[in-house]
Amino acid sequence: MFTDIIKQWGASMATAKKNVEKHAFQTEVKQLLHLMVHSLYSHREIFLRELISNAADACDKIRFQSIARPELSAEPLVIRIKPDAEAGTLTVSDNGVGMTKDEVIANLGTIARSGTGEFLRQLSGDEKKDAHLIGQFGVGFYSAFIVADKVVVETRAEGADEAVRWTSSGDGEFTIETGSRTERGTDVILHLKEDAREFLDSLRLREIVHKYSDHIAFEIQMPRTEDDKDKKGGEPEWETVNKAQALWTLPKSEISDEEYKEFYKYIAHDFEDPLAWAHHRVEGKLEYTALLYVPSRAPFDLWNRERTRGLKLYVQRVFIMDDAEQFLPVYLRFVRGIIDSNDLPLNVSREILQDSSVTRSLRSAVTRKVLDMLEHLARQEPEKYQTFWKEFGQVLKEGLAEDFANREQIARLLRFASTHKDTPEETVSLQDYVERMKEGQDAIYYITAESFAAAKNSPHLEIFRKKGIEVLLLTDRIDEWLVGYLGSFDGHPLKSVAKGDLDLGKLQDEEERKAAEKAAEAAGPFLEAIKSALGDSIKEVRFSHRLTDSPACVVLGDNDLGPQMAQILKAAGQEVPQSKPILELNTDHPLVRKMQSLTESEDFADWALLLFEQSLLAERGSLEDPAGFAHRLNKLLLRNS
Ligand code: ADP
Ligand code: MG
Repeated sequence: MFTDIIKQWGASMATAKKNVEKHAFQTEVKQLLHLMVHSLYSHREIFLRELISNAADACDKIRFQSIARPELSAEPLVIRIKPDAEAGTLTVSDNGVGMTKDEVIANLGTIARSGTGEFLRQLSGDEKKDAHLIGQFGVGFYSAFIVADKVVVETRAEGADEAVRWTSSGDGEFTIETGSRTERGTDVILHLKEDAREFLDSLRLREIVHKYSDHIAFEIQMPRTEDDKDKKGGEPEWETVNKAQALWTLPKSEISDEEYKEFYKYIAHDFEDPLAWAHHRVEGKLEYTALLYVPSRAPFDLWNRERTRGLKLYVQRVFIMDDAEQFLPVYLRFVRGIIDSNDLPLNVSREILQDSSVTRSLRSAVTRKVLDMLEHLARQEPEKYQTFWKEFGQVLKEGLAEDFANREQIARLLRFASTHKDTPEETVSLQDYVERMKEGQDAIYYITAESFAAAKNSPHLEIFRKKGIEVLLLTDRIDEWLVGYLGSFDGHPLKSVAKGDLDLGKLQDEEERKAAEKAAEAAGPFLEAIKSALGDSIKEVRFSHRLTDSPACVVLGDNDLGPQMAQILKAAGQEVPQSKPILELNTDHPLVRKMQSLTESEDFADWALLLFEQSLLAERGSLEDPAGFAHRLNKLLLRNS
């Protein structure tokens, strides 16, 4: 009781003295402000897009609340933009939700997004590059400081006793005091910098509104142009300057590419055009409209697990929530856009969405639309698809495990490097590969390695190169898992060239086979000698069908883990089963022939070990005992010189 009286007294004293509280911005805000002002100079006009977007969000929130309390939107919800040339100010106002004092301090003093600190550290200081990154980060409210050297926010929440005034010059702190706004809503008043006076020009402002905000579902109003001169002070005559109809509700034929692109930039807060989009209106059992976009560039936090993702959800054109992640599988987390459903209730919550059958149906429909859009892009605009693959290919691969129902379509979207072009560019689809298969070829061959060079130069490829059989060169760490998981494509098994007993089947001619068998028989004792010299470190020694130039190579058993998988498991702290390699020898190689005459020599064990170690080296790029290897090599070099 007593504390209440003290509190009240404190509050009244604060008003009496017009108490001004000083607050410091969170460190990240300070950094962002500094960087933004310096790197976004050539994108200055986006501040207006951001402020209008916030005003529209505030109106959306009231419209949503007014479903239960219709009196809240008795007045039409509008956004107003008012330049004042004399004062040098530009004001963006709305009669949306407004903010309480606590909300102002939290919303306009901190950045809530996780990973912000890390993002800021990534920035290079190169203004052009940083502009892109900051664009993806989404600059929001703070972009006001690109054009203003002082910003005042007057805001009043629904039902609040008084308004709050927030003031800052963007230099590390802001002040909070009681404001004078009498109605619910927010005014953002920008005191424009000397070099930003173009944003007082009514025509310039209309042009920007038209470009970015034509399809905000609320009216955006400006004073009639004549009023600029005639009416000083007083209430101007307002006129609506945007189309004020949500873009996705229009028929496709009435929407230009430009409008689709700008709408993307508006919802994604991006500077760049999207790579592709798909707009569907579906009627029947499920009624919804979806407008889905693929960005041109991966966001900085694509790999951050806590990152927000998802679509903007509307129900019967009423905005319900941002980042509704229930409509997209995780592997399509890069997709942006909106979904407007007629089947969900207006009071839907995240919890209800989580286990609603409508959500599930919408999710599988949206997933299919996205995959179709990507396939269409791959077919119609392969260059753009290549950009997509570079940015998001690794994420898409996760889909094979996550989305069993669509694995075939996802498999068609995969791209790899191969011996066809022998370049690291991942441009080969499994379909391309199948079309190029040799007569009699059944399997799709691949090799996995730590680097492109290691894959490309692997001795395992020799026989394939000689016979002109294409091999996929896989170097992404999850590729080994991927091919194992996929198993086959279009009826063709995926087969590692470095595993198992290579059986080229019909690709090998009868004579070659017979010759090889004969040679193997004759060399039985030689192989035995090597096996006993190498002892436990190998599983088996045999003659090879795969080598033409190298003396030897190591091969894994059909079911053994390859080096990539072994590394992934090791990194995850799992125990990795030790699989012993098989050593294969090339009987035609002079070194192997020479060794056959040395079985009785005291150096034979060193020769065998050297051959084994160089095969391991070619395969894995490292040895467990590199010094021992060098020592043996030198010894044999000297002895034979
Ligand atoms: P975002 O819009 O992505 O959340 P912003 O930096 O643009 O980020 O805005 C920060 C927050 O400030 C908003 O989420 C909102 O809560 C609040 N805010 C900004 N402008 C307004 C406004 N005109 N009316 C009500 N709240 C606002
Ligand atoms: Mg915003």
